[in-house]
Amino acid sequence: METILVTGGTGFLGSNLCVRLIREGKRVICMDNNYTGRMENVAEIMEHPNFTFIKHDITEALPELGKINQIYNLACPASPPAYQGKHSIETTKTCVLGALNMLELAKKNNAVILQASTSEVYGEPLVHPQVETYCGNVNPIGIRACYDEGKRCAESLFFDYHRHEKVEIKVIRIFNTYGPKMDPKDGRVVSNFICQALKGEDITIYGDGSQTRSFCYVDDLIEAMVRMMNSEKGFTGPVNTGNPGEFTVKELAEKVLKKIVTSSKLVYKELPKDDPTQRRPDISLAKSRLGWEPVVKLDEGLDKTIEYFKTQI
Ligand code: UDP
Repeated sequence: METILVTGGTGFLGSNLCVRLIREGKRVICMDNNYTGRMENVAEIMEHPNFTFIKHDITEALPELGKINQIYNLACPASPPAYQGKHSIETTKTCVLGALNMLELAKKNNAVILQASTSEVYGEPLVHPQVETYCGNVNPIGIRACYDEGKRCAESLFFDYHRHEKVEIKVIRIFNTYGPKMDPKDGRVVSNFICQALKGEDITIYGDGSQTRSFCYVDDLIEAMVRMMNSEKGFTGPVNTGNPGEFTVKELAEKVLKKIVTSSKLVYKELPKDDPTQRRPDISLAKSRLGWEPVVKLDEGLDKTIEYFKTQI
């Protein structure tokens, strides 16, 4: 049986991926240092004979893992409050040194490796919607740079390992994703708004709420990831993966308020620095090369996510 390594395997996306792969009968090694990952995310598969958890930081030398056939490299804090501030240097190290270690492992094992890149590589985009050929507009010295430039450098490493070391790479650029297994304390907009509404706390809109995001339900995103990993040999991407439905942050808050009976009110807070004004993926490439597009509408996905957060708080 083939063995699949998932780094960041106890995180939001990683754990959803691990559960799916185990259900499909795959053998999975889940690696995480649990900085933002949570063991409860993998509790349902922890005892499964095909599942192994290894607590490890991917910037450090790897333990002996045996033969690995596929690597999903997801390890990295992904929420702005988690990657900024005192963890910013570790974030860059995870992106860059982590990618290097994983690419070396892929080379040694002749494994296919998928990189979870991000819409953040486009920075404050001047092209809208974002296409993969757009090179982005990132502030290299700003507070988001640890993540944005870290992920950009990781992409660069992936393509050099592909060109020079013949490693089979797959790069996806993930746009905002939400759903079950998100950490309620993660600080991102969907988790914040739902948890605030469930607790009757103020709904914190940063800025005037006119900035836009496109929200993809987690099951759709995992489907794209698995399709990309198993796509035609030589197809490297990068491929945008996300839901092209675009909403302002204020519209999202209003949707959440319609769905949850609450005393919560909208309050406006300062907009964080370098917060992108607009974001929406052009997913033509994913449609044509992976036969993929999201099927879960925001309303349906929010309902499922609200049910999940009710169990968390
Ligand atoms: N945001 C907000 N209130 C919150 C959390 C986030 O208004 O409580 C805004 C944030 O400023 C950004 C958008 O929602 O414009 C998405 O933020 P998130 O951290 O979820 O992801 P990002 O796309 O910025 O990485």
